[in-house]
Amino acid sequence: MTFPLTVTDVVEYAFCPKFTYFINVLGLGQFEQKRGSVSAGRKLHNKHERSNLDYVPQGFKGKKIIACKFFSEKYELSGKIDEAIDMENEIILIERKYSDNHKVYPALRIQLGLLSVLIEENMHKPVRKAIVIFNKTQRKAIHVIIDDSIRNESLEMLNDVKKIIKSEIMPESEFDNRCLNCCFRRICPTGSLNSDE
Ligand code: SF4
Repeated sequence: MTFPLTVTDVVEYAFCPKFTYFINVLGLGQFEQKRGSVSAGRKLHNKHERSNLDYVPQGFKGKKIIACKFFSEKYELSGKIDEAIDMENEIILIERKYSDNHKVYPALRIQLGLLSVLIEENMHKPVRKAIVIFNKTQRKAIHVIIDDSIRNESLEMLNDVKKIIKSEIMPESEFDNRCLNCCFRRICPTGSLNSDE
């Protein structure tokens, strides 16, 4: 078992619990590097890590923080933020997504919740709001309230991931649309039994 876990490990569990088994228990890698959307997303993040270093969205006053890595001793968790604004009494988290699907799905909520927990522990200021900036062909910014419900939900999921890693038992997962493009579908009982390949 390898600790600390990363926020990405928990986001992968939120996408499908079997990912935790394949990646963190069996040590298999995801073959995502070749996917166009993944490399385009990385380019978007790299671009924003190098440009507009001082720009903060209208209505916010503070110091910009970019691509910072944080570690929590309390939760044995690490994670990297895209951007944040360090204001007088709070931190605003900014997450960039290369997508035209302008929805805050559960996995993204978990990501925001865990990154907020990491920021709060390291910077000793509360995170009450995150801004998700979707930017592919259309730019859209969505504000997400960060409260105890999102924090607790995220930390519960972190515990679920740790339980699977400790038990080394493959969790259940239903077949659905996620399986169609899943890199593990040929070795996954759920994916392979429901696929013609
Ligand atoms: S094939 Fe489906 S159930 Fe199996 S790991 Fe992929 S998404 Fe999860």
